[in-house]
Formats: sequence, structure tokens, C-alpha cells
Amino acid sequence: MPDNTKPLPNASLQQDRIDVSTLEHVAIVIFGASGDLTHRKLVPAFHTLKCKGLMPEQFTVLGVSRSQMTDDEFRDHLRTGVQAYCKNKPDECGPWDEFASRFHYIPIDYDDPESYQKIAAWLGSCWDNRGSASCLFYLATPPSLYEPIVAQLGAANMAHPEDGWRRIVVEKPFGHDLKSAQRLNQEVHRVFEEDQVYRIDHYLGKETVQNLLVFRFANAIFEPLWNRNYIDAVFITVAESVGVGRRAGYYDEAGVMRDMVQNHVLQLLTLTTMEPPVAFNATALRNEKVKVLEAIRPVRPEDVGQISVRAQYRARNTGLSYRGEEGVRSDSETATYAGLKFFVDNWRWQGVPFYTRSGKMLSTKTTDIVILFKRVPHLMFPKDYQGIRPPNSLNICIQPDEGISMTFNMKVPGAGMRTQTVDMSFQYDSGFGSDNLPDAYERLLIDAMQGDASLFARSDEIELSWRLVDPILDAWSRGAAPLTFYEPGTWGPRESDMMLARDGFAWPAGCAG
Ligand code: NDP
Repeated sequence: MPDNTKPLPNASLQQDRIDVSTLEHVAIVIFGASGDLTHRKLVPAFHTLKCKGLMPEQFTVLGVSRSQMTDDEFRDHLRTGVQAYCKNKPDECGPWDEFASRFHYIPIDYDDPESYQKIAAWLGSCWDNRGSASCLFYLATPPSLYEPIVAQLGAANMAHPEDGWRRIVVEKPFGHDLKSAQRLNQEVHRVFEEDQVYRIDHYLGKETVQNLLVFRFANAIFEPLWNRNYIDAVFITVAESVGVGRRAGYYDEAGVMRDMVQNHVLQLLTLTTMEPPVAFNATALRNEKVKVLEAIRPVRPEDVGQISVRAQYRARNTGLSYRGEEGVRSDSETATYAGLKFFVDNWRWQGVPFYTRSGKMLSTKTTDIVILFKRVPHLMFPKDYQGIRPPNSLNICIQPDEGISMTFNMKVPGAGMRTQTVDMSFQYDSGFGSDNLPDAYERLLIDAMQGDASLFARSDEIELSWRLVDPILDAWSRGAAPLTFYEPGTWGPRESDMMLARDGFAWPAGCAG
């Protein structure tokens, strides 16, 4: 597709909200530091930030988990992660040893108060003669450990220092259902104030997701059309082409609803449908997100069969199937695919269907949002020429081919009035350069260090999204929307196509087309 919307000359990536000079000295304590997230995402993100000059001059990281490791072993382990997963390789932008010397490791027992005394002592020592005592705790452990760690931090009096700030980043999933999310919120709030809590949904750290807000609210031409008067339907796809891999144990408990829909899919739906906030700050932004989450129509048990499709991948010929994956129960009913229809009951969106689908082992990896506009009310061209032209659509490509395109109907040159649908598109790659899209964790780590919670979920947001997901999961567990199967490498089960066909729609090709 040709890219015909180049940015204006001199446009550059603006990072004017990032002012690390205000951060004197920050200590980061990572719980679960021997794990995959630290290795693959967090430390590579710190390394890139350091390369870009976006880390505070004085930062120190303490990794803690049960594994026995020395500082040097920990640093060697981190180096392999940076080598494999970071755009900037070790030694590429300054000596690796200088960067690595900021990282320390202490083996701990998550339930043992003495372990937290060791962490407190380490924090105390690293602040000697360094001014304020600011610290970011990062929970990168299995979710079952979040409550005990938070309680121990409270018991060790580590949440409210006399000087500096303390914040806690909590990884997804935040809860397993509404009840557990409420309980976790309560336990966290026993120790930390809400404004100290940063609940991660890394989708919000993606440039293209943030750009949804800019696209909607920094352009006067789209917002007047962004409502039920002009939009026929909205389609959100979050598709993975891989299976469960090493995460089978976790996934078989979670399934696609908890792994993708409760967080990423509903975040995309919320950003697409929310009203304009009065300012770009955490309170204004999250207030609007909460309002629209409250407006999403709760699903009634009797409707679940009509508005949802649940399925698992299972190949007819090759023997590849979800139930055959190592670590998955052979009779597992866990859905690896969910197709859903939502409505947003407010003035802007009344009657507009929002179709969402997410799944594993689908045709291709893509995340996109397609806005389908209404057809023109009257086509004046002679019947012979008009054919059936598709309506305009706007494709917002979140990943991997980040960009935005719009379809128009145009006259084909020559005699007569033959029309054809064409694209106008913008791609990040050619517009801003392929290296200029930072990893989501880079942005989120900076924001957490700076105290900007705009791109993190608030407690009420999390609970409202579980309130929408729980009734569907509950009805599924009681047999509503029977489990169906789909061929790996396809776009999912035919029941999902049929759900849309009943309303006169079809899944759009989106950004993968
Ligand atoms: P891991 O499974 O790699 O676990 C992290 C560490 O926690 C392990 O190294 C281990 O360290 C410790 N741990 C694991 N199981 C237990 C247990 N049963 N009891 C006590 N300690 C245990 O997790 P990830 O790093 O993949 O993920 C961390 C968190 O981040 C999870 O909540 C996950 O959902 C979330 N997340 C991860 C993503 C990823 O890409 N990995 C993406 C998005 C979210 P030790 O044995 O040394 O204590």
C-alpha cells in the first residue's frame, strides 16, 4: 500500500514530557527478578532508556527472587537478555560493565519478614549521602504473590518514607475475576494510597494505542463523525499466530478472556469510545475511561449464546491441538478464541455494535481497530455504474504494521462513472522511521518513575472490566455458547463469522488484509 501521508518536514519524536533531570536518585526493586519478564522486557527497556539518556543519572536496581545468584551471575543473566531482546546491544552505547554495576541481587523468601529487612537495609545503604529516598517496587512475580509481597512491604514499613516517594507497579493479570480483583485492590490499599499504585496493561504503553487519543482528539475532522450518526459498526481484532508456548499452566487457568479481553481488548474499546477528557492527565483521562466502561451494556446470561463465541484451536489433520499442548488438561474447556459483541449505551454510541475477537494460532499476528462508516444515503450515479461499493472504513493498525489507513471510493479514469475503492494510508515506519517506536515498557517505566499514571489502570477501571467479563465466563462455565473448534492458521471458528452475518456484517480484512 503506498504511503502518501508523510509527516511535515522537521516533525520529530517529541519527548517533551520526559524530564529525567527532576529525578535525582531512583531505586527500583524488582520482585521475581529471575523471571522471564525481567529478562526479556524490563532490563532491555532500562538499557534502551539509558542509551537514549532517559534514565535518571543516579539509578540503582535491586533484583529479588528465590533463586540463589550472586550479583555477577545476575548481571551475566541480564546481559543475555539485553543481547537477545534489546535494540541496543551491550556495550553499544557505553560500557556494559558501568550499566551492569547498577544492578544487584538478593535471594529472598517472599513470606519471610527478614527478607524485607534485607531489602530495607539495601535501600538504606544505597541512599547514604544521596539525598531523597525514592523507590519503585515492581511486582514481576506470579500474581499469587502480589498480596503477600504487598503485605510484607507494609509490615516492614516500606511504603511511606519520610523523604522521597514510593510507588508500586503491579503486572497484569490484576485479579482472576471481580471478587479477587476487589480483594487485591483492598489489600494494596491497606498499604499504598491509590496514587502510589501503577497497574500495568502494557498495551497502553504502545505508541499506536496512545495515538488513538491524538488521532481522535487532536484532529478536528474525525471527531464530528465519531458517533452513531456516521458509524455503522466497529471491529477490534487482537490476534496471535502462536500457541500457548511455555505459558500453558497459566493460560489453561486464564484463557483468552482473562489473558486478552479483560485487559487489552477492553482498553482498546474504551479508548475508541470514550468522550474527550478535559486534559491529558491521569485523573481526567481515567475518569472518562471509567464513564464509558460504565456505559458498556452488561451481558445478560440469556444473551451470552447470541453475543459470544468461544473456541479452541484443533487441527483436523496434523494432530496439533490446544488440548495436546504440554501442561494443558486433555479435557480442557479453556477458550483460546473469543468473539464478542458489545454495545455502549450512551448518546454517542447507542445501537452501534462493537465486535471484538481475540485468539491464539490465528492466521496472522495483528491488532487492529476498524471503524466502518455508514453508506451514503443516496447514490446519484446511474445504476449501470454504481455497482455495490463498500462504505468508507478507517483501519487503525496497532501492531505489527503500525499505521492508519482509510478507504475511499474514487472514479476510475476514463469514460463513464466506474468507481473503485482506494486507500489513503500513513505508516509509522516510513513516517517516523522504524527505530522510533519505543517498546511499551520503556514508556511505562519512565512514566512510573515520573509519577504519571495516565497510562496505568485505576482500581475502578479494573473492577468495571471484570464486571463485564465475569458474567460471560460464568455463563460459559454453565454451557452457554458451547465450545467450538477452529483450524490453526485460520481466522477462527465459522460461528464467529455467523455471529456477524446475522447482523449483516463480516469481519473486515483490517490491517492484515
Ligand atoms: P515467571 O513465571 O518467569 O516468574 C517470575 C519469577 O517468579 C520466577 O523467576 C520465579 O523466581 C518466581 N516464581 C515463579 N513461580 C513461583 C512460585 N510458584 N512461587 C514463588 N515464586 C515463583 O513470570 P514472568 O516473568 O513471565 O511474569 C511475571 C509477571 O508478569 C506475571 O504476573 C505475568 O503474568 C506478568 N507478565 C509477563 C509477561 C511476559 O512477557 N513474561 C507479559 C505480561 C505480563 P524464583 O523461583 O527465583 O523465585
